[in-house]
Amino acid sequence: MDAELRDLYQQVIMDHQRRPRNFGPMESPNRSAEGYNPLCGDRIRVELALDEGKRIRRAAFSGEGCAICTASASMMTEAVTGHTLEETNGIFDAFHRLLTEDDQDPAVAERLGKLAVFAGVREFPVRVKCATLAWHTLHAAIDNREDPVTTE
Ligand code: ZN
Repeated sequence: MDAELRDLYQQVIMDHQRRPRNFGPMESPNRSAEGYNPLCGDRIRVELALDEGKRIRRAAFSGEGCAICTASASMMTEAVTGHTLEETNGIFDAFHRLLTEDDQDPAVAERLGKLAVFAGVREFPVRVKCATLAWHTLHAAIDNREDPVTTE
């Protein structure tokens, strides 16, 4: 990855960390779950308003996490709003591949849009859990799982 792109990516992540979007408890969510990443100490709660057509109307998160965790949760809430669960699974699948596969398919990055800024995290395996915590918590929320999810 060239230095200019890396800088741009870092700026986007910093911006979301400083001013997280959809942050704070939501009014009357119908799905929620908690997630914990013991390796880093990230602890978040994801809340959703899921409609009858299985489309995410609103998504919010709260809690405390490191820069990567917070920025990832913030961007995730933006990325999934308005999407069906099937579409959401597709985004998560692409995101997971971006973070874990060395051999990158350009079509995957294209599908991710802004979430592609996390490509640099691939070089720091410990941070992958920070970046995916919000997504695992989102899945638990969709299933309305009561036990907190952990990345361990
Ligand atoms: Zn973290």
